[in-house]
Amino acid sequence: MERLKTAIIGSGPAGYTAAIYAARADLQPVVFTGMEPGGQLTTTTEVDNFPGYPEGVDGPSMMVHLQQQAERFGTEVRIAYIEKVDFAMDKGSLHTLHIQGGEQVQAETVIISTGATAKYLGLPSEQRLRGGGVSACAVCDGFFYKGQDVAIVGGGDTAAEEATYLANICNKVTMLVRKGEMRASKAMQHRVNKAENIDLRYYSEVEEVIGESVVEGLRIKNNQTGDVEEIGITGLFIAIGHKPNTDIFKGQLEMDDAGYLITETKSTHTNRPGVFASGDVQDKEYRQAVTAAGTGCMAALDAERYLQSLT
Ligand code: NDP
Repeated sequence: MERLKTAIIGSGPAGYTAAIYAARADLQPVVFTGMEPGGQLTTTTEVDNFPGYPEGVDGPSMMVHLQQQAERFGTEVRIAYIEKVDFAMDKGSLHTLHIQGGEQVQAETVIISTGATAKYLGLPSEQRLRGGGVSACAVCDGFFYKGQDVAIVGGGDTAAEEATYLANICNKVTMLVRKGEMRASKAMQHRVNKAENIDLRYYSEVEEVIGESVVEGLRIKNNQTGDVEEIGITGLFIAIGHKPNTDIFKGQLEMDDAGYLITETKSTHTNRPGVFASGDVQDKEYRQAVTAAGTGCMAALDAERYLQSLT
């Protein structure tokens, strides 16, 4: 069976940054791209907050740059999906990765950068307008709606944080919470209530996003009274949670209740020796390309040190 020094699962900013560092350390990394080569950023239009791009960059281009940089140092990128893993318990033992289609590879170290997937409401109109005003990241896309009227869906900490972020940029933020209360912490709720341009509406659900190619409005239903109303907006932010892509690691790696991988403090070590986690798969708090890239770098350094400790 093929034996790799370092296998990287996932091809977002974390995976490719891990690859750049691992390749330069002569770990001859192989990146298994997964189903969505390039990760979440390939579904974003403009990325304005990644350091080093003074004019901004579109998400797919940035991912091509990262891939090219990783390949320049000898990274091999395989369009392949890992469907099962057998992680060894003992230090120095090999890990086995099962590739969809039946092939298997062994690896001395594995870096997991499989990311997380933003949840959406599932409305056809919402799916149609993704990239046309529907976004799951206010920090990434909020700036494009400066001075405009927008809406945000969700009642957790992310929604509350993003609503206050948007309130500083936009003219008006309509916040739609499906229950009569918010799940967000009291401190976050206080910030929402304090913002004068947040119109907080409980028991409210989106029935339809209005607009052909760009968002022009929303049809909202009050799930207590049944009343339906239309409001005009140009941006809709969905903040109803993320799902970390960790199903194949269940039973082998430690994860929290929401499924995020748990790493040892200030490192990327998981509970299996030689297996490291970086990016959104282990981070539900920050979820930025730059923080994912930072932990990708950490994972490659941790893998290099682990391999050195075996000699
Ligand atoms: P949460 O799962 O905490 O909240 C999701 C919110 O979305 C809930 O209000 C939920 O409503 C609502 N929701 C879910 N599905 C739908 C739907 N189909 N339609 C409408 N509303 C829906 O996710 P978050 O991303 O907010 O937070 C994830 C974790 O990260 C939490 O532990 C949070 O505390 C943490 N976090 C911490 C931050 C901080 O401390 N600064 C910042 C951001 C996140 P309902 O309550 O009705 O189920």
